[in-house]
Parts: sequence; structure tokens; C-alpha cells
Amino acid sequence: MYKTHGCGELRLAHTGETVQLAGWVHRQRDHGGVTFIDLRDRSGIVQIVANPGNPAVQIIQDARSEWVLQVSGVVRRRPEGAENPNLPTGEIEVEVTACEVLNPARPLPFMINKDEDTDENVRLKYRYLDLRRERMQRNLILRHKVVKFMRDYLDAQGFIEVETPILFKTTPEGARDYLVPSRVHPGLFYALPQSPQQLKQLLMVAGVDRYFQIARCFRDEDLRGDRQPEFTQLDLEMSFVHRDDVLALVEGLFTAMIPAVAPHKKLLSTPWPKLSYTEALERYGSDKPDLRFGLELHDASGIFSGSSFMVFQNTLKAGGVIKLIAVPGCADYTRKEVDDLTTFAKEQGAKGLATLALTAEGVKGTAQKFITPAELDALKAQAGVKEGDLVLFVADTKAVANKTLGALRLLFRDRLGLADKNTLAFAWVVDFPMFEWKEDEQKWDAAHHPFTMPQLSDLARFDTDPGSILSDAYDMVCNGYEMASGSIRIHRRDIQFKIFQLLGLKEEDIQRKFGHMLEAFEYGAPPHGGMAPGIDRLVMLLADEPNIREVIAFPKNQAARDLMADAPSPASDKQLDELHIRVELPEE
Ligand code: ASP
Repeated sequence: MYKTHGCGELRLAHTGETVQLAGWVHRQRDHGGVTFIDLRDRSGIVQIVANPGNPAVQIIQDARSEWVLQVSGVVRRRPEGAENPNLPTGEIEVEVTACEVLNPARPLPFMINKDEDTDENVRLKYRYLDLRRERMQRNLILRHKVVKFMRDYLDAQGFIEVETPILFKTTPEGARDYLVPSRVHPGLFYALPQSPQQLKQLLMVAGVDRYFQIARCFRDEDLRGDRQPEFTQLDLEMSFVHRDDVLALVEGLFTAMIPAVAPHKKLLSTPWPKLSYTEALERYGSDKPDLRFGLELHDASGIFSGSSFMVFQNTLKAGGVIKLIAVPGCADYTRKEVDDLTTFAKEQGAKGLATLALTAEGVKGTAQKFITPAELDALKAQAGVKEGDLVLFVADTKAVANKTLGALRLLFRDRLGLADKNTLAFAWVVDFPMFEWKEDEQKWDAAHHPFTMPQLSDLARFDTDPGSILSDAYDMVCNGYEMASGSIRIHRRDIQFKIFQLLGLKEEDIQRKFGHMLEAFEYGAPPHGGMAPGIDRLVMLLADEPNIREVIAFPKNQAARDLMADAPSPASDKQLDELHIRVELPEE
């Protein structure tokens, strides 16, 4: 037996007991001949003490950071004044009677016992050491609790967990596929699933009724932002449901889970608010609004319908809008600060920014010279503009105005500290458009995925005005993040076929890629729907981490490389031969 107790388990009640411990040297120090070691295992840390003359003192003195030791000793109360109230084991120590080095350790590339700023690439190369740190252990445990809660909750709701294949066929979720060459079928490839979307729908055809899976998804995307080539979703699907049945199930799960796994987080509101896609964009400039604070966008087009300002006039004439946010307490911004905001607005695609500062000495800003007293009154009455505000106007197409002001809204959230990090503002965004127009490819694309049910009342406009068709898709958002997407699915062959056609697929392509789905829909497919909350981002939020790599045990770095094992790496000639693959590298 290596150990009778975990290091972190020992308390005053164990005083006098002989215990056996095994763990890592967290810290070692010498106090006038008395040697102390903080011994650590997953359960925590305990102080080991060796007095001069102790038979084990030599080993204890020689031991260095992260050596693995096995220690026998007697638990005793620490001398008065030597207690450590910050440590659960801080009232006791273990007087060593015997010690064995199970394995020494080389000097470490970074400290385990301190939270110092280590270059992330070094952390990832030595991830097994990085994961020893308390913060990372905490994240792993939290992630485990989240997943366990999900499993238990869904089990109690009659769901069953079904594994679906990783070697499969292309499943479109808007990214590129990772392909796996088949050795036994030369020239043919499996695709790793971008999600289990098709398989979970086929499970509904199979009568599974309520499915979930802690599912790995693979998406080959251009490296941008906080993404991983593989990530984890709680994938779920239900038969005989309408949209609100799915939302209620997921809302129930999350509302029960947050207090159980992250009691320091507060839900801003229950039930969660439900916004249409259009409303979210109009009010917050984003389809994943952060609802923890106000600073809403206002449409001032009406107020300025008679404006003498050419830019406003021309925008309105061209069918655009004039929208604003009124930032409280920023009326005294300097010229330079306003210029920086204008640069930021231009980076978002706006042509510029008009500003109005309501200072105690009067109205200032670029809009001051043309704004009339009546317009100013209307701004106060209709858009809630008040003294002390810096009003930022964007006159542009609705899309550009929303995007720009939405981004400015988040900029001021961070700058003014408007959002409390322990508040979780969950909300539903519903009634998404079914299609979006891909300007570069000059074709329609599915806004969610092609298996999403269009709103049947819109079907009449299918051939005439696809852009106006809404879908039965929904997103779960929280604090400015998209946390989950889902939809009610198409379960009828004719509708599914039509959608594929509208997306520009030829009949033979539809058959080759999705023939199995269409066929399945002809054998009594039940109405069904579901969604897939992302687990990485959720745990990241609950753990207050800045990116998802901190809550994934072995993530790729931002260049999609595993630095520890050095992947991706070349294949041997033998492997390539067996796969009938010849590598032709691009010219340098
Ligand atoms: N398969 C979708 C996704 O990965 C989720 C869903 O529609 O259930 O986003």
C-alpha cells in the first residue's frame, strides 16, 4: 500500500495516528536544522517535518521540488503559533519516521508551486507539469463536475447516451473536414464529424427518442480567435418536440447545474429572456448579446428625418439608418480619445462616427454644429440621452450600424467595468434567418445547418425571397458568447431535398452526400429537434478563465499544434505508401 491517506485529508482528529503518504515535494525549507517539506497529492498539501537526528532527515534534506516521495510518519498538532490557517491541514504536521524516494525529478522548466506568468508554449510543451498546478487541477475537476452533472440530469430525464462514430462522412457545420484516408479502400476518405448532427437525427429515426452524448467535434477552420480543431459539445436530440420543449429542457439543466457546480455564479434572470434575432441585433448590435448591462442601441433615424447634416440625409435617402449609443460619464472625453473611438468604428466597417458630448458647459462634439434644439430634446426624450453622456452616432446601413455600435458597446463594457463577472446572463435568441447570402460564392448558405426546419408559414416565399425565410433555429447565449445552437429539424424528405437544392447542390450531389438522410426520412422519421451546448466555453466561463485552452487537458496551441507530442508530424514513407498518398509540398 503506497498510502493510507491523501495528503490533504489529515486533520487534528488524526493526531497520534501513524500514516503513510505518497506525493510530490511541493516546497522544501530548512529552519535551523529542522527540515520541512510540503508534500502534495491531488487531495492537497500537508507539512512533513524532520528534526535533526531523525533517521529520514538526510532524504528529506536532499529532496528537491517535484521529487516523488513515500513518507511514513506520525500526525501531531503543530506547535502553538506555527499553525497555517490558509491550509485545510494547517493545524497539524507529520513527523516523518521513514521516507523513500520513489522518483527524483530534474530541475523544472517552470514552478509548480507558484502561479507565475510562464510562456504558454512552454506550458503546453510540458502540459503534464502544467496540469499539476492547483489552478489547472481545479479546472479539470470543475469540468468533470459539469459533465457528470449533465449526465446525471439527462439520465433522470430519460435520455440515453449513445456513442456515434468518429470515422464517418462529411457533416456540414460550416467548416472544412478533417479527412482520414482509408488504407483498405485506396483513394477513399472518412471525414471526422464536425458534429454528430446526422447521426443523432438518424437515432431519432431509430426511435431512441431522447439522446445525448459528450461529443467530440472536429472542425478544420482558419486559425482565428479562441478555437480548437477539436472541441466538446453536450450533443442532444429529442423526438416529438417543439422548439420550446427543447429550450425548457436545456434551461432546466443549466439552471440546476450552475448552483451545483459553480455556486459563486449568479443567474441574472430565470426564466431566461427570449429575444428574436432581429431584436437582439436592433437593441444590442449582436446576435449573442451580453445582457449584464444596458447601453442599448437606439435608432434615431426618425429624430433626424429632417436633418440638415448631409451625411445623415444621404444615409437616410439611401435606405440606411442613424443609430446611437449614449455612454454615461464620458462627456469629457478628449479629442484624442474620441479619435481613437472613430478609428475603432472604422475598423468595424463604419465610415465614421459622429459624436455629441453633453457636458456641464454645454453640448460639444462633431454633431454639435448641425444638431437642432428640437433634435436634442427628442434624443433626451426618446433615447434617454442625458447630461454627462458621450453620444456616439453611426449613420450607415443597418447591418454596419448594428455591428459597429455593438462592438463599441462591448468596448465600453470592459472600459467602464459595466458587467459583473460573477453574473451569468443566459438568454435565448430565436427566429434566425434560414439562409445567409454568401457574397464571395454568390449563393445561399444555411445560417445554422441545412437540416434546420424553415418556419413553415414562410415556405411560400421559398422560391421568390429565400432571404426572408425564418428558421426554427435557436441559440443559447451568455455574457456575449454563443453557448449553444440548435433547431427543430426537417423530418420530411421533400422539404430537405428542396433545401439542398436551394443551397446549390445538384441532384447527384445530394444523393451522394446525403442520400442516406433522405432515405431515412421516408421510413417514418418522427418530428425532432435538439441542440448542442459547448462544454469548453461553459467551463471557461465558470472557471473565470480567459480562454478555452485553460480548461482542456491537452489543447492545441493557437497554431493548431500539439507542442508536447509535436503533432501534426510527418508520416513515414511506409505509411504513405500503404495509404496510396504522395505528398507534394507547396513551393516555399
Ligand atoms: N449540430 C449543431 C452544432 O454543432 C447543434 C445542433 O443543431 O444540435 O452546432
